[in-house]
Amino acid sequence: MSIVLEKAVLDMIKSSKNGVLQSEIWKAVGIDSRKCSRIVVALEKRGLIKREWEKIKGTRTYRVSYIGNPLDYDSLMAGGRLAPCIGCNEECKPIECLSMDQWVLALTEDEFRTNNL
Ligand code: SF4
Repeated sequence: MSIVLEKAVLDMIKSSKNGVLQSEIWKAVGIDSRKCSRIVVALEKRGLIKREWEKIKGTRTYRVSYIGNPLDYDSLMAGGRLAPCIGCNEECKPIECLSMDQWVLALTEDEFRTNNL
């Protein structure tokens, strides 16, 4: 299974606050419904998403929502760097911390890139 496709599917699910219909995912990502279903099932088995049946215009489909993963370290990364507080043994003054400033700036840049702002 393509990691690029899996990431595209997961990113779409993550970006939707109220979940997204599985039938919308495969159309948006540009894959067929069977491949989308395999990716979604794999993500569900990894505990990243949940699926719930929903009826839309008489047709049953899944609403897919991101539920996160306690082992997902993405939220600790910005600009390819781990959050500076991890393993830091400096006397902590966050307002004066250059490492934190740089990390937050990288986080902001990542958000702009991710959301095409
Ligand atoms: S804010 Fe700066 S000084 Fe404080 S723990 Fe994080 S990296 Fe260390």
